[in-house]
Amino acid sequence: MSERAVTVTILGSGTSTGVPVPACTCPVCRSREPRNQRTRCSILVSAAGRNILIDTSTDLRQQALREGITHIDAVLFTHTHADHVNGIDDLRPFNLASGAGIPIYACAEDLAVLRRTFAYIFDSGDEPGYRPRLSAREISAGFSLFGLPILPLQLIHGPGRSLGYRIGPFAYLTDCSFVPEATMELLAGIDILIIDGLRFRPHLSHLSISQALAVAERLGPGRTILTHLSHDVDYSRHASLLPPGTELAYDGQSLRFFLPAP
Ligand SMILES: [Zn+2]
Ligand SMILES: [Zn+2]
Ligand SMILES: [Zn+2]
Repeated sequence: MSERAVTVTILGSGTSTGVPVPACTCPVCRSREPRNQRTRCSILVSAAGRNILIDTSTDLRQQALREGITHIDAVLFTHTHADHVNGIDDLRPFNLASGAGIPIYACAEDLAVLRRTFAYIFDSGDEPGYRPRLSAREISAGFSLFGLPILPLQLIHGPGRSLGYRIGPFAYLTDCSFVPEATMELLAGIDILIIDGLRFRPHLSHLSISQALAVAERLGPGRTILTHLSHDVDYSRHASLLPPGTELAYDGQSLRFFLPAP
């Protein structure tokens, strides 16, 4: 059977402040290690010439320029915290380049927050203006996007919630403090896991590195990549201390997996 290659590019691997953190003089924030330079969390999923962006991070413009992204065909949102949505206006150049609107997918609750927070985008009717052209699509269950099977996954994120996404053997679980049992079942058999692993110390809204490793150990993927990293995590010191098959994400990192042909 022939296969379809899917490429995932980690656009941003940093926590909400980014790393370096402005005004911080800690060793990680002052380090010259390029993998300690972390923009806000987002990934790009590319297959058969289509680009699906997960979240519009505060750093979207910089990420798009760095990776030479020429088009964005759809956006999936995980949740509406500022670090995951504040780059939404940076979708505008992609409208101009393609001459088309961009579908954005989120759960009903998050679409309502996006409409409220970015009313200038959604409430201007047909009036032209300096705003991205987006069409909101509600996610309520798994769906197919450009032939890719997109499975939304419920996650607990501190006092709130977020969505993870599974695409075949790959899953992206940013911003979570707990993975519910029903979601663990939906993750059975995955091979590549990108998961929140903020820092070593516990945090109310994010998995610590040891908690993330415990989730990974239960799921048993071949490869686990920790993301949403804070300035407590030093790539040069800590990457080599992780268990086999476990990595720290870094900006610009790229990985590939395969799906059976449709
Ligand atoms: Zn976040
Ligand atoms: Zn720092
Ligand atoms: Zn968040």
